[in-house]
Amino acid sequence: MTTQHKQRTGWWGALLLLVTVAPPDPGVAVADEPARGAMVDVARLEATARRAGLRVVSGERLVLVTDRPARAGDGVEDLPRIFDEAFAAWCDHFRVDPKSVPSWRAFGCLMSDREAFRAAGLLPIDGTVPDFANGFCDRNRFWLVDQANPAYRRHLLLHEGVHAFTLTLRSLAAPTWYTEGIAELLATHRLEAGHFQPTPIPRRADEVEQLGRIEALRRLRTSGEIPGLADVFATPPSPRHDIPAYATSWATTALLAGHPSHAGRFQAIESGPLDARLTARLEASDGWDGDLAARDFDAFTDDLDHGYDFGRSAIEWTDGRPLTAPAELVVAADRGWQPSGWSMKADETAEFVATGRAGVGRAGAIDLESTADGISLRWYRGRPLGRLLVAQWAVPAEGSRPRFVVVAEGAAARFTAITTGALYLKLNAPPGELAGFDGGLDVALTPVAPPAPQQRGGEKR
Ligand SMILES: [Zn+2]
Repeated sequence: MTTQHKQRTGWWGALLLLVTVAPPDPGVAVADEPARGAMVDVARLEATARRAGLRVVSGERLVLVTDRPARAGDGVEDLPRIFDEAFAAWCDHFRVDPKSVPSWRAFGCLMSDREAFRAAGLLPIDGTVPDFANGFCDRNRFWLVDQANPAYRRHLLLHEGVHAFTLTLRSLAAPTWYTEGIAELLATHRLEAGHFQPTPIPRRADEVEQLGRIEALRRLRTSGEIPGLADVFATPPSPRHDIPAYATSWATTALLAGHPSHAGRFQAIESGPLDARLTARLEASDGWDGDLAARDFDAFTDDLDHGYDFGRSAIEWTDGRPLTAPAELVVAADRGWQPSGWSMKADETAEFVATGRAGVGRAGAIDLESTADGISLRWYRGRPLGRLLVAQWAVPAEGSRPRFVVVAEGAAARFTAITTGALYLKLNAPPGELAGFDGGLDVALTPVAPPAPQQRGGEKR
């Protein structure tokens, strides 16, 4: 399942840097028609493939050659059209005017048996193409190993397509996390009535069969091996870029492109050179707060699930005022972690009572309502759906990256702060379902004063 890629960024990369002009500011089309030599000659390769008797399917932006026998319903005939639709979305993302690159075309080899391509002279044996696992891209030419699953085959094709696009039209020579992350982000899609729909964060597992990135991140979280943002930024280039590395690279670009606090800056960075200094430029950009970005990344990987929506789940980080007197607040059902506005010191004690009912989606034709205890009909991440959770942002007892550590839950509880910091609350729910939730719960929060030793003594007098 791993895709192994390398981009040749030596001589060709240097040439591309000479012919592609970075824009003076965001919003300007960034691509020049690549110079001859910076692109492989697709027509010549297509002729070679036809001479060798390989099956050729093509669209406006892709000539795809395969040794797969034609099979009704395998979707291969549709791949060039889907590639064209994806190409338009990539142009949108990078603000490239497709009319400015009229002759841009990629040449893809979808291989069941590599030997057929070697024999045809379409897979070099001179060492210029490594013995890759699943895919490899050189300028506007790529190879991918055929997959049994049509959704995953499409994903790999588009992943390599993004490499071809960025290498040739954006002179990409960027750090690994960006190179692989943006390829994963812009390849992720679902089909709607057979058409490409960008879905940077998959809505449902069955729309991205075998992709497994969200599941991989969950496993890394559960095992305490999830990297922080700085670790992802430092991902070394490797011929063995494995699934966790893909997943964390994807998560990083998904955060930077989708989170309201980071999206504008990321777009500006992406409109500049996609070169080796990209991370440094991001970190030096106006208003960049590395601690905040790291915390947003940790919160994202902690909560991430299919259908995650930054509009509902991005965290509003606040310190909160010290909880020294009873306080009342409302927890919205249709949002992720929400600041209570109150903070506690480590080892201070408080109690809460939560009342009311909130809408927590539907089961068939029935609207589901929940109290703060949650509904036992359905559980999510080990707790009843809709259950009120109270948490602090902390390094969990088992170590690993910081996360929201639940300190209390349900309709009423007394609890002790595990760290000095704000209280956050939410109803337990899959983040992708929050849009179907409504209403909220009322929470009365009361500090519990520690027993004063001198008063205890006084009572006995
Ligand atoms: Zn790749």
